[in-house]
Amino acid sequence: MTDDTFDLIVVGSGGGALTGAALAAKAGLSVVVLEKTDRCGGTSAYSGGACWLPGSAVQQRAGNADSTESARRYLAGLLDDPDKERIEAFLTHAPELVAELEDDPGFEFEWLAFPEYFDAPGRVPMGRSIQPVKIRRDAVVPEVAALVRPPLEQDRQGLAGRRTLTGGQALVARLLAMVFRDGGTVRTGHRVTGLLTSRDRVTGVRAGTADGPVELRARRGVLLASGGFEGDQPLRSRNGVPGEAAWTMAPSGTNTGEPILAAQELGAATALLDQGWFCPGPLQTDGRGSFALGVRSGLMVDATGRRYANECLPYDRFGRTMAQAPERVPSWFVFDDREGGRLPMIAMPEGDAAAHLEAGTWVRADTLDDLAAAMGVDAAVLGETVARFNGFAAEGADADFGRDADEYDTFFTGGPTLLPIGSPPFTAATFVLSDLGTKGGLVTDVHARVLRADGSAIDGLYASGNTSASVVGPVYPAPGVPLGTAMVFASLAVRHAAAG
Ligand code: FAD
Repeated sequence: MTDDTFDLIVVGSGGGALTGAALAAKAGLSVVVLEKTDRCGGTSAYSGGACWLPGSAVQQRAGNADSTESARRYLAGLLDDPDKERIEAFLTHAPELVAELEDDPGFEFEWLAFPEYFDAPGRVPMGRSIQPVKIRRDAVVPEVAALVRPPLEQDRQGLAGRRTLTGGQALVARLLAMVFRDGGTVRTGHRVTGLLTSRDRVTGVRAGTADGPVELRARRGVLLASGGFEGDQPLRSRNGVPGEAAWTMAPSGTNTGEPILAAQELGAATALLDQGWFCPGPLQTDGRGSFALGVRSGLMVDATGRRYANECLPYDRFGRTMAQAPERVPSWFVFDDREGGRLPMIAMPEGDAAAHLEAGTWVRADTLDDLAAAMGVDAAVLGETVARFNGFAAEGADADFGRDADEYDTFFTGGPTLLPIGSPPFTAATFVLSDLGTKGGLVTDVHARVLRADGSAIDGLYASGNTSASVVGPVYPAPGVPLGTAMVFASLAVRHAAAG
């Protein structure tokens, strides 16, 4: 069938995929987006929409101290053994991509205050991340509004939708609108499981649909931008990814890695397969994880009742600390009644306190001794931990873990978070190791071409986002790196495919 041949096939519909599809459609290529679920956006639609795209006009307009050079210095200080060519490709193309997107009447970015995750040379005060400007839902064409995956609180908890699309919602809606406007095709319910080849070149994909298997052909290339394999427990276990599929933040039924496996069948090389973008996750009553940041008070202890890190660390850094010892997963977050028994942090979702207490994911008591008993922790150890922490709070300095010393620690509160555990009742919430996705996958080059182990490119095959091995390795340098890098390499893939 003629309409099953396109210039470019994009697999997945997150921020990277839709950037690639929008730019390809704008450049006059015929493009199809294949999405396995019935909604577009994946984890990108749940996200805050922060994009780490250094050196662009957006930071300049905001009077932000960002520059490509300072971003280069920042990454150089954080990354061990970086792929310098890909880092340079990212840094060079990031401002070009922002200019290209902002050149479109449907797209506008703004600077977003959000501190970078490491106190390292080149760091910019209050960060250099940018985000798509919010957009009213009724300003989006209905076919797009109907396709955008709902925000996390609506998708997972059934809460009300939003009249204004912000963050990742705005990103997905704006890009999807460009795809439709410029004649692109979007097919949901297409689960890509295989790649078609002809004379060593990728020429299309095989996908499962409700009506049976289909094949689609691509004249210029296939871009795999279909997330990682965070939702597949056997793949996680095989590759040693800490945490569990049940605890990931990826939407149900999304990222289970079939496209990565399909590329491996063609000889694609992989790297970083044990890595993810991690976060501490309040365990929910349905056994799933959650995303938490911005601690306002309280402390985290392991199964022995001892603190092990600054609770205000950027979430991936805290998650990695959790992963270092088995007694830290699960952990307990201990807090007092200063916020009326609610978790003193941003938690998405938090869950209902009464339901947590009923299910045992939270325990509550009027004394610390009784709390320790309910947690199954030695009361003397917990008492000592809390007394020591309260001493630090009185002194205004955390001698063990330096909490509140960094601008990130106090960003969400605007003031100290090192507050004593005081008024009862006391609550302990179970925390597991959650993630925003895996970040290991296909090895790619500066054009986002998928490479074999010998370094040769598989013609016609590109990858970006969590389908590819991250350009920043096992580090999460700053807010917006997952989306920023996914978008840049999808754009570079389209440039290469269009030129070929
Ligand atoms: P996704 O966005 O998950 O998209 C993958 C899509 O591919 C899905 O729709 C999936 O259904 C589809 N797919 C999978 N397999 C197939 C297949 N076989 N065939 C067809 N389709 C398939 N990152 C940032 O950079 N900035 C932020 O502000 C930010 N905030 C976050 C906030 C939250 C609450 C969460 C959960 C995450 C956040 N992240 C943020 C992380 C970021 O959202 C993800 O790392 C990123 O979106 C991953 O992009 P992706 O395109 O690789 O995958």
